[in-house]
Amino acid sequence: MTERKPFVGGNWKMNTNRTTSADLTRQVVDALNTVHGVETAVFPPFPYLLAVRTILRDRGSAVKLGAQDCYHKPDGAFTGEVSLDMLKDCGVQMVLCGHSERRHVIGETDELINTKTRAVIDAGLTAVLCIGETLDQRESGHTDPVNQRQLRAGLAEISGDAMANVIIAYEPVWAIGTGKTATPEDAQGVHAKLRKLLAQMYNNEVADRTRIVYGGSVKASNAEELFRCPDIDGGLIGGAALKAPEFAGICKAAVKQPK
Ligand code: PEP
Repeated sequence: MTERKPFVGGNWKMNTNRTTSADLTRQVVDALNTVHGVETAVFPPFPYLLAVRTILRDRGSAVKLGAQDCYHKPDGAFTGEVSLDMLKDCGVQMVLCGHSERRHVIGETDELINTKTRAVIDAGLTAVLCIGETLDQRESGHTDPVNQRQLRAGLAEISGDAMANVIIAYEPVWAIGTGKTATPEDAQGVHAKLRKLLAQMYNNEVADRTRIVYGGSVKASNAEELFRCPDIDGGLIGGAALKAPEFAGICKAAVKQPK
């Protein structure tokens, strides 16, 4: 079986300012300086990418730089959008695709998310494809069909080879920013089904090597029990990523759990 290196990403959403994004970056770099065995990334707001990148580079940090979104067209009359070339120019290495707030607040469809995911891969970057059911969908017994649909749709026309540049983030919408976390058993159950579906869509090797991380109110205090599960390969972190010691605690919890 392939060993999957844990991944922990910090999604800063529409938080921080010019000063606090720089301060947070320096604190994250210092806190993760001696932490090895986990791939880490921060996803600052667009305006701060370049400054965060400069700090990461000047300090020789292994923390990667991610963007929270992108537009799939290379250039042109798309007011307000940001292309992948622009992101690469700012040193971005990975991009979130289909985060629940983009699906449910901004209204992105499975088709658009797939288009963006393919564009990220074509640009040579890593796509973090986010999927997850809402509370209504969960309570009406639709957790599995919703996640399966989002996984299949998000990965449409993406080859098994290209899957080396994809991380799946399972983020139940009802757990994001609510303080409610899926139990390790529930999350593991969904992750195992997603991995099985990857095996059907591709093959066992792709399923084995694809990282599936969990997101939804992860904190340093609950990370270890989640990351200990055999199919949970780390986390995508929102609120707790805005505090460097908390984020570092979560990253450290992932180190102890290589799969
Ligand atoms: C997220 O934004 O991806 C997330 C998981 O947020 P939180 O950790 O705050 O629930």
